[in-house]
Amino acid sequence: MDYKVAVLGAGPGGYVAAIRAAQLGAKVCLIEKENVGGTCLNWGCIPTKSLLASAEIYSKFEEANQHGITIDNINVDLSKMVQRKDGVVKQLVNGVKFLVKKNKIDLIKGHAKFLSSKEIKVDTEKETKYISADNVIIATGTSPALPKFFGYDGKTVCSSNEGLNWNQVPKKLVVIGGGVIGCEFANLYNTLGTEVTIVELLPSILANLDEELANATLKNFKKKGIKVYTDVSAKSINKKAEGADVVLSNGETISCDKVLISIGRKTNIDDINLEYLGLKLDDKGRKILVDEHMRTNVEGVYAIGDVCSTLYDLAHVASREGIVAVENIMGKDSTMDYHAIPSCVYTHPELASVGMTEKEAKEKGYKVKLGRFNFVGNGKALSMGEPNGFIKLVVDAESDILLGAQMFGAHTTDLIAEVGVVIQNKGKCSEIVSTIHAHPTIAETVYEAAEDVYGLAIHA
Ligand code: FAD
Repeated sequence: MDYKVAVLGAGPGGYVAAIRAAQLGAKVCLIEKENVGGTCLNWGCIPTKSLLASAEIYSKFEEANQHGITIDNINVDLSKMVQRKDGVVKQLVNGVKFLVKKNKIDLIKGHAKFLSSKEIKVDTEKETKYISADNVIIATGTSPALPKFFGYDGKTVCSSNEGLNWNQVPKKLVVIGGGVIGCEFANLYNTLGTEVTIVELLPSILANLDEELANATLKNFKKKGIKVYTDVSAKSINKKAEGADVVLSNGETISCDKVLISIGRKTNIDDINLEYLGLKLDDKGRKILVDEHMRTNVEGVYAIGDVCSTLYDLAHVASREGIVAVENIMGKDSTMDYHAIPSCVYTHPELASVGMTEKEAKEKGYKVKLGRFNFVGNGKALSMGEPNGFIKLVVDAESDILLGAQMFGAHTTDLIAEVGVVIQNKGKCSEIVSTIHAHPTIAETVYEAAEDVYGLAIHA
């Protein structure tokens, strides 16, 4: 079987690359060993947000009496929430399968391994297939990192994959790792009534984000009753007949029903015969080194998404890297631009950021002006019962160019797109001010923060 492009892995990097290659006229095959949609659709973005949406409905019912609505006997049936989540995932996976078929892409279900840079062997359920391709895109993504000493068993000591499929709400949960995934799970189970403890090795949760966003989340978690240990590691997990004891580096022991390990992810590169190609990896030997065209050091071999050495492990970045790789294969000179990548965290309230933080802008030598607005001054936020939030804009004082934005509050994962467009196009803060924002909307908080850069916010 001869192809112009063979794509290994059908996550948001791989399937988007395959569709774009087909749109541009290439003969394409897409090889996937598990489910189309990859981590994002099956074990990541979509299932977590689907369960978080269910949890939010539950929390709204709990607040109903503030709105004059009395509801008795509110119960959570987690197995039904999981069923609903499975339905959402299935619908999206089928949607991707439909698109793959519509674009006449050969979808091959099986485990791919390189024989050379242009030859791939695929072990399918029935047979072994041999494929040759002029160009190969590696998009094999990641899996949860589960160090042996934690005693992962998928029942008591779990990864995020199992945390999406429990059929009973745990009474006590210890989340090891306070990054984005750990915080989203902590928020989910806390909302459903679990006593949650986060154990984080670093001095802060959400350590990769702007300090103010991380601190706002920490304060909010504490208010909700989530216990957070920072600068503390989990030394060992002792499983019991029911549940486990988690022994911490500070000498404390926490008993719980479930442990969720979310300390990071490892790239899926161990069993694809990368050594046959002589591909260069990063210093830690974990990620495939690529240039800004998504090219590896081997001609005709590209790598995209979480498996490659670029900074962001996000679905939308994987998709764009896939498009850039394909455009280069098809003769265009495309490069990746990472200066306006939005990052979102779906806790309640949500967090979002794009571009530079204040600290990064100052480190780069900018003279910075800040604009701020608190949600408590916004009519829509108050009407919705969401007064807890803020917008922070980072602006170059000399040119007025918007450099970055950090947001904490309801719907900020949607609001971030507006400032993303401005930052991507090196637009000015005054352009947000001159744009009339509908009233009453939460988007007005962005407008007011932009006005605040000039000391002119009306409702502050
Ligand atoms: P993946 O999605 O990991 O896909 C790789 C695919 O390759 C998999 O389907 C795998 O089965 C397949 N594969 C691997 N090896 C082989 C082989 N040898 N042969 C054939 N197939 C193979 N990102 C966001 O942007 N927003 C979010 O809200 C978000 N939430 C997340 C929540 C969780 C719990 C997790 C775990 C991740 C989340 N992410 C989120 C991250 C996001 O899922 C990843 O960044 C994204 O899926 C990476 O896409 P990818 O195409 O590089 O790889």
